[in-house]
Amino acid sequence: MSFKVPRGTQDILPGQTEKWQKVEEIIRHLCHVYRYQEIRTPIFESTELFQRGVGDTTDIVQKEMYTFEDRGGRSITLRPEGTASVVRSYVEHKMFGQPDQPVKLSYMGPMFRYERQQAGRYRQFVQFGVEAIGSKDPAIDAEVIALAMNVYAAAGLKDIKLVINSLGDHEVRTKHREALVKHFEPHIHEFCPDCQSRLKKNPLRILDCKMDREHPLMATAPALTDYLNEGSASYFDQVKNYLDILGISYEVDPNLVRGLDYYNHTTFEIMSTAEGLGAITTLCGGGRYNGLVEEIGGPESPGIGFAMSIERLLLALEAEGKELNTENQLDVFIVTMDADSKRKAVELASSFRAKGISTEIDYSNRKMKAQMKAADRQGAKWVIVLGEQELAENVASVKNMESGNQEKIPFHDLVNYLQTH
Ligand code: ATP
Ligand code: MG
Repeated sequence: MSFKVPRGTQDILPGQTEKWQKVEEIIRHLCHVYRYQEIRTPIFESTELFQRGVGDTTDIVQKEMYTFEDRGGRSITLRPEGTASVVRSYVEHKMFGQPDQPVKLSYMGPMFRYERQQAGRYRQFVQFGVEAIGSKDPAIDAEVIALAMNVYAAAGLKDIKLVINSLGDHEVRTKHREALVKHFEPHIHEFCPDCQSRLKKNPLRILDCKMDREHPLMATAPALTDYLNEGSASYFDQVKNYLDILGISYEVDPNLVRGLDYYNHTTFEIMSTAEGLGAITTLCGGGRYNGLVEEIGGPESPGIGFAMSIERLLLALEAEGKELNTENQLDVFIVTMDADSKRKAVELASSFRAKGISTEIDYSNRKMKAQMKAADRQGAKWVIVLGEQELAENVASVKNMESGNQEKIPFHDLVNYLQTH
């Protein structure tokens, strides 16, 4: 019997984890400076939360959820995304009552979707996302977009493109919806079965179809931007104006949609334009959802957020040939000769580590030469050799692996020596 990771999942091994930690560090720092406080919600929720919060007509709910019955007979779903849970928590903990609105939250953790595995598409992946709930100031839309863009910039990505659109308000959506039905209905039999059912339930999602992307009626479909009323157009203009102030360039794509009724106004995607990324180029998706909190049982609280996966960020870095600046330096390797020097090494390692000096010792009773090789493989900055003579004299010979210099340093001076050289 041999075991493998489940399809669509991956082990992240040492060598890779340093990159993850670096990205996580960038994200934590930016959330701190932008003031998005971290929220941690459960990995699973009641299935109904996602049916409502993500929407019954979406691919996620219709095809991609890991849903099961628990031993108490409840329908449970592994979270496929973060917004529904964050909004549930916002409502459950009455955060709408807090004096400072919007409430600005961030999350990072694994999400689960039963998808066909391909590059950039996993069944378990890690999303970082933020939600700003309780304001419909266009400046917050721009802030949320800026934060996402800055994550990519701080990670060193250059080939990044922001695409934005406005879905308008409810009135706009209703008129546009009628126009879409009129446009697609006569030819709907040429579309995939999903689109055929979308026509009546949620025609906007036809524009998001991956199967029928090339159908000529897609390019000529009525654009939402042509239906924007004065209020919606002015909101969109203000968002664009703030992006200009922030020096963030963007493209407007009238076909960029999010297909849920409570998504409205600003919607955006951040894509990688790097060659060699493959079919999947969207790194981040986000938008405004002014009706979602009410859908989940709270008072009217307009919100906006985004989500991005760390996996796709790392793939984009690879496609650009960029390395993250990760540090995992081994400071000291202590070479031991016998039981006595081993005891001293254990004691010294502990005192070094207490001062933040990363230290390794031998646990395989290897010969001195093999230990020196191990120190070299692990990139140790210093090697300390403890032999019989050193122990007798209460000193250690300390070798700087870069310069090759070697000195004898009294035990009680070692920490100070390592910290100042
Ligand atoms: P796609 O069109 O690629 O399926 P989506 O519309 O399902 O994306 P969202 O639900 O908006 O994506 O998720 C936001 C972000 O989460 C995506 O832009 C992407 O970075 C990431 N993401 C979504 N699904 C996956 C996945 N299966 N594996 C890795 N990352 C993913
Ligand atoms: Mg998807």
